[in-house]
Amino acid sequence: MTEPLFDTITIVGLGLIGSSVARGAKVRRLARRVVGYDLSPQVHVRAKELGFCDQIANTPAEAVKNAELVLIAVPVGATADAVKLVAPHLARGAILTEVGSVKAAVIRQVLKVLPEGAIFVPGHPIAGTEHSGPDAGFAELFEGRWCILTPCERSSAEAVEKVAKFWKGLGSAVETMTPEHHDIVLAITSHVPHLIAFNIVGTAADIEEVTNSEVIKFSAGGFRDFTRIAASDPVMWRDVFLNNKKAVLEMLGRFSEDLAALQRMIRWDDGTALLKLFTRTRAIRRGIIEAGQDTAAADFGRPHGHED
Ligand code: NAP
Repeated sequence: MTEPLFDTITIVGLGLIGSSVARGAKVRRLARRVVGYDLSPQVHVRAKELGFCDQIANTPAEAVKNAELVLIAVPVGATADAVKLVAPHLARGAILTEVGSVKAAVIRQVLKVLPEGAIFVPGHPIAGTEHSGPDAGFAELFEGRWCILTPCERSSAEAVEKVAKFWKGLGSAVETMTPEHHDIVLAITSHVPHLIAFNIVGTAADIEEVTNSEVIKFSAGGFRDFTRIAASDPVMWRDVFLNNKKAVLEMLGRFSEDLAALQRMIRWDDGTALLKLFTRTRAIRRGIIEAGQDTAAADFGRPHGHED
C-alpha cells in the first residue's frame, strides 16, 4: 500500500466542506491521522458523534500542533480570525490552506495575520450543496469537480504542488489562477446566479396577489431550482457578497443592462430579438453538455447538489 500524502492533517471548521474533506481524506487514505476543530460547541459534539475525524481537538493549539497540513473551512468573513487562532501553534514547515469562495479579499486578510515563515496556499473547491453543517458532508463531494488554487506571495511551489496532490487525491481536477481572475470567474458563474435566486425567491414571497402556498404549489422546474439555491447558508453568502464586492457589482451592472434590453424587446414586441437571444443561449447550454461539464437532466444534472 502506498504511503499517505500527509502524516497528520487538521481541519478547522467542520461544516459541509470541512467534514467532507475529513471524510474524503480518511476514505482515500490521504493522511494517516485527521484532526478536527470547530469553535461551535454543538459542532464539536456532533463531529465527535459522527466520527469522521480521528480526534476532535479541544483547543486550536492541540488541533494543529503536529499537523503538516492545516485546512481552514470556515465562512469567508471568519477565515482570518480562524488563522489567527491557529497561527501561533503551527508546526515548523506546516502548510496552511483554506477553501473560501472568494480569494483576493481573504488572501489580503490572512496575509495580515500570518506569522513569519508560515506557508499559505489559498484554494477553492468548486463543489458544494445548499446544505451546511457536519451532517451535510460526504466523502465524494469533490469527485469529478474542479479545485482552483490561487497561489500568493507566501505559497512555495513545493507547497502548491502538495496541496494540488491532496485535491487530486480527493478526486478533483486542479487548476491554478490569480485570485483576482478567480473572483471575476466566480462572480459570473456562481455569485451573481445565487444573488438572482435570493432575489427572485424574495420577490415571489412578496407578491401580494399570489399566496405563499401558491408559490410552493405551482413551483415547477425553474422556480424550484431557484428555491433550492436560495436555501443556501445565509452567513456564507453574506460573507461572499461583502468580500467579492467589486467583481459582483461589475457583473451585476452588465446583467442589469442586458435585462433592460430584454425588457425593451418584450415591451416593443420584438420577437425576432427574443428568438435570437434564446437560440444563442440554448446553443451555449448544448456546448456545456457536449464538453461533458453537465448533463441535460433537470436540477443542473448534479446528483448531490450544485457547484458553488
Ligand atoms: P458551514 O457548513 O457553515 O461550516 C462552517 C463551520 O465553521 C461551522 O461549524 C462554524 O461554526 C465554524 N466556524 C466559524 N468560525 C470559526 C472559527 N473562527 N474557527 C473555527 N470554526 C469556525 O460552511 P461550509 O459550507 O462548509 O463553508 C465553509 C467555507 O467553504 C466557506 O468559506 C465557503 O465560502 C467555502 N465553500 C463553500 C461551499 C458550499 O457550497 N457550501 C463550496 C465551496 C467552498 P458556527 O456554525 O458556530 O459558525
